Amino acid sequence: MSEVRFGPGGIPDWLEPMVRFCSRCGSRLNFGPIEGEERDRLACPSCGFIFYVNPRLVVTTLPITDRGEVMLIRRGIEPGYNMWAQPGGFLEIDETVREAAVRETLEETGLLVEPGEIVGLYSRVTAAVVVIAFEARIVSGERLVTRESLETRPFAPDEIPWQLIAFETSVRALHDWVARVRPDLPLPNPSTIRRDFGA
Ligand SMILES: [Zn+2]
Repeated sequence: MSEVRFGPGGIPDWLEPMVRFCSRCGSRLNFGPIEGEERDRLACPSCGFIFYVNPRLVVTTLPITDRGEVMLIRRGIEPGYNMWAQPGGFLEIDETVREAAVRETLEETGLLVEPGEIVGLYSRVTAAVVVIAFEARIVSGERLVTRESLETRPFAPDEIPWQLIAFETSVRALHDWVARVRPDLPLPNPSTIRRDFGA
């Protein structure tokens, strides 16, 4: 696993270049104590704006076929090029979590799903994300190859290609799904399948 350092601002180093300047007045932000705040914050010395940096929500689904298989995508983009993951993406500002789950799954797989139960909610602090994974029934649509995917195909619970899964949060979500639908199957320890990138 890559070493992600948390620099000034209490944020991962990779995020720091994106939060250098005040989004209200353009001044350089300072990191330090702020009256009334319980931890050090990025704040603007000119206008007083406090820049709160919080994780973003990534909405994903485990699309399930009539035969109880999960549909995964072989990724056509970095991070995780050529590895497998469930469909998903960042929640947009004007949609609900379930709307995002339907939209992202349709965009990335061509499949219309109906999100059901939440399989799990996974924090990945070094990537500054929280990933939600819905179990989702496939309602209609045709599998398609998109700009972001090389292939979409179903896997039975005992066929999950654990060593070729792109993200740690995907390993954890698939682990929890398999444990739920096939508690008899042996499972990998998610912490032994660590990825160096992304979520
Ligand atoms: Zn400012």
